[in-house]
Amino acid sequence: MDNIDYEGVFKGKRVVYFSMEIGINSEFSTYSGGLGILAGDTVRSSADLNIPLVAVTLVSKKGYFRQEFTPDGWQIEHSDVWEPDKHLILLSEQVEVEIEKRSVKIQAWLYVVKSTAGGQVPVIFLDTDLEVNAPKDREITAHLYGGDQRYRMKQEIVLGIGGLRMINALKINVLKYHLNEGHASFLLLDLLRNFGWNVESVKNLCVFTTHTPVEAGHDKFPYQLALEILPTVIPIDTIKEYAGQDSLNMTHLALNLSGFINGVAEKHRETTKKMFPGYEIRSITNGIHSLTWIHPALKKLYDEYIPGWAKEPELLVRTEFIPHEEIWESHYDAKKELIDYVNGKTGRDFSYDTFTIGFARRASTYKRHALLFQDLKRLLKINKQFPIQIIFAGKAHPKDEPGKKMIQEIFSYIEKLKNDVKIAYLENYNMDIAKILVPGVDVWLNTPMRPMEASGTSGMKAALNGVINFSVSDGWWVEGCIEGVTGWAIGPCLEGKLSDSEMAILEKQDLYGKLEYAILPMFYEHRDSWITIMKNSIGKIAYYFNSTRMMRHYITDAYFG
Ligand SMILES: *Cc1c(COP(=O)(O)O)cnc(C)c1O
Repeated sequence: MDNIDYEGVFKGKRVVYFSMEIGINSEFSTYSGGLGILAGDTVRSSADLNIPLVAVTLVSKKGYFRQEFTPDGWQIEHSDVWEPDKHLILLSEQVEVEIEKRSVKIQAWLYVVKSTAGGQVPVIFLDTDLEVNAPKDREITAHLYGGDQRYRMKQEIVLGIGGLRMINALKINVLKYHLNEGHASFLLLDLLRNFGWNVESVKNLCVFTTHTPVEAGHDKFPYQLALEILPTVIPIDTIKEYAGQDSLNMTHLALNLSGFINGVAEKHRETTKKMFPGYEIRSITNGIHSLTWIHPALKKLYDEYIPGWAKEPELLVRTEFIPHEEIWESHYDAKKELIDYVNGKTGRDFSYDTFTIGFARRASTYKRHALLFQDLKRLLKINKQFPIQIIFAGKAHPKDEPGKKMIQEIFSYIEKLKNDVKIAYLENYNMDIAKILVPGVDVWLNTPMRPMEASGTSGMKAALNGVINFSVSDGWWVEGCIEGVTGWAIGPCLEGKLSDSEMAILEKQDLYGKLEYAILPMFYEHRDSWITIMKNSIGKIAYYFNSTRMMRHYITDAYFG
């Protein structure tokens, strides 16, 4: 962190990107899942592209949590404390917000994400852990997604209003405010006040990206709580006008006060339009930061045959130039690394040559981690003909009992099938484990209940590394899947008017049928065809589903649209 021109990193007119979580690296425990990883990839690609962006988030000193399992697979959460003072620079500016009628002081830490291409993006981590604050206020920025509604509302005041005031204190010249999910929506109210309650001025400056059809992902607070906690300078009637009459809905606030609103995949745009009729919803499909998610073995190969690909991932359309056997060898290197890692963790003997399925994401019930086990007889029959091994990972939110039970269910199958199918559930899924797990499997499985997967990004990481997607046709996969060419879909591509139970039957048919008759025979008996699909994953998926392309879309559509 030496040699940084502190003034310089904030110069020029900037997009200010607000996100409750940002995944910078595994050491900073300031993210929980896809939303945070996307925010990190947004920052990294902005640095690559020299986009004048500054990101604002909470410091989350005690992290999300470190995951441990009891022998029977019950999740235990530990604080995941990290030390900002070892990695970040404390800025001298401080701001104040009113919370529960008290004044709370906020300080800010700076980290600068640097691109190998020379650009850089400052990230500001807000922190209330100051001696002048009351002990409970010092804890506001401690736990990511921790505590109750009251705690969450305080965090969102710090992020939105505190963040806005910090941006002003740092004299940052703002081009747009970009709200990555509704957690920062309070900033819109403070901005409205600054503009003398002129709604159009606020709308012109604000971009809102919504990220999930899951109800719990949209914060709603009772007005009683708002009256107790929110700064009194904002009249409650004004809040009700934009955030809803019955409860304070952070998503409604963002929808009503942002001039540009987008979902994160074409399909998610459709879903969002139905959820919030009357708003113009656009779509910018998510992407991943290629250099962050490429395995070193494949990077070496791409560097050799497609120079410049990392800066311009579109060049990956030229994957044809890479010889088949070299793709396979590089994949095999990545697979060996994973299998050695898993054997080290589990003490079992997973094999380099067995077909390996990967499944890792937040353990939220709609993701259906256990779907592959709905018909054990069928799974065992398939496994007899074509051996399978499966590697899982993922955290459940500490308060998500059904999510924790879903993990425990997987553990029960690990035990039940231990003499037939090798299955592992890796502890404490994070960015470092994702970098080993995703490139190291043969197929990346994704089984969300539609239309709940707004986009999903882990399948894009898989494709970039030549790992083949086998996924329910939801989120980004609706755009990425060419059946039998770039991977396989589970269930019909178009929903039509199917009931949930009809859909479940079709999904089950595809899950087992395609494994048995298409995927496994090709893997074991037609390796050449298999490698063609691996190549197509790179050349027909990864060239597009990256955050370089995504940020160019934000620039042309959202920031300068
Ligand atoms: C990519 C990533 C995710 C997101 O996975 P989805 O399949 O998009 O839900 C979550 N956690 C980690 C650690 C990741 O790297």
